[in-house]
Amino acid sequence: MTGSHTLPFELDRGLSRARIIELLDTDDPAVEKALFEHAYRVKAEHVGTQVYFRGIVEFSNRCVKDCYYCGIRLSNTQVKRFTMSEEDIIDSGLWIHENGYGSMVLQSGERQDAAFVDFVERVVGKLKDTTQGQLGITLSLGEQTADTYRRWFKAGAHRYLLRIETSNEALYRQLHPKDHDPSVRLACLDSLRSEGYQVGTGVMMGLPGQTSADLADDIAFYKDNDIDMIGMGPYIVHSQTPLAATVKDFDPARQLRLGLRMIALTRIVLEDINIAATTALQALDPRGRELGLKAGANIVMPNVTDVKYRDAYQLYDGKPCMDENASQCKHCLRARIESVGETIGLGQWGDSPHFFKRRQEMGQNHE
Ligand code: SAH
Ligand code: SF4
Repeated sequence: MTGSHTLPFELDRGLSRARIIELLDTDDPAVEKALFEHAYRVKAEHVGTQVYFRGIVEFSNRCVKDCYYCGIRLSNTQVKRFTMSEEDIIDSGLWIHENGYGSMVLQSGERQDAAFVDFVERVVGKLKDTTQGQLGITLSLGEQTADTYRRWFKAGAHRYLLRIETSNEALYRQLHPKDHDPSVRLACLDSLRSEGYQVGTGVMMGLPGQTSADLADDIAFYKDNDIDMIGMGPYIVHSQTPLAATVKDFDPARQLRLGLRMIALTRIVLEDINIAATTALQALDPRGRELGLKAGANIVMPNVTDVKYRDAYQLYDGKPCMDENASQCKHCLRARIESVGETIGLGQWGDSPHFFKRRQEMGQNHE
């Protein structure tokens, strides 16, 4: 399937590394258009044009890590730290469930202490109980031991998002303090998979020092590791971080372009996975998420966190919808999604078809 006569080569899942780099770098608007249109056709064919919602609750900004790019890193003393109460998180989960979002993402800074592990286990269990097992639960709580992942899975979580940030090991080391080890992160992805989770990962695009070749390698990483879901977003400066000092010419338009092209290329190469149109796209352009859907994404993660906490959970500058509560977001989003001719898959978990195929293949291999 070529899908377009604009290009002198086939756009298909076998795209070479050199072609991917060429498509990330192109200055030709006709090539970009052909890329997005083809990615959209691949999406329609493999996962459909229904958008699935994951209501995201950012329940705590306490973090033991010090990633150089992130606004809530441990060393940022200007941030007022908070953790939502168990009751407030459960109320948010009920709102998500009652409004037909189907799934919830619980995200926070990283902590491995016993009190935190117990807290999450309890909250996940209660969310499952109060929704009669109907609410799908995704966690995005960083690096943990296999035992912790197992406990949270048993409590009822079934998807986990842990970005590799970049597949370039040297670049990863530049973006993190010495004790943040990329091999630990890879081991975490392996244990998540062994524990039975649907595994999500992703990278940031447009990082200082990152090349188009690195991004092409990121897509190869997703493919080689048989990833089920992707949540990736453009890097955005946070002024109170060490990395901000190294960024001289931050160009939001370039970041958005890279973000959309990566979504399109990832869709074309991986076909049947879930890909999120992330909030970082919206931070760069009010229509960023819709553009993400048109470029091949099929998941949107509306922010359901109580507005009183949003100010304190800023991973990057210019986070959108700081004063819009969950109900306002819901109306705005529906209109936005309908504006690009898509429908919302209400009341469904919207699991990635890839996960089921992977499981089936595993089962067959074991027979
Ligand atoms: N602490 C958990 C979850 C919260 S951070 C974790 O790190 O996995 C979630 C994601 O936010 C990170 O994986 C990173 O990719 C992204 N992020 C952090 N700072 C960012 C920035 N300045 N610009 C864009 N994305 C950022
Ligand atoms: Fe903490 Fe995650 Fe931010 Fe790193 S990216 S500092 S782990 S919240």
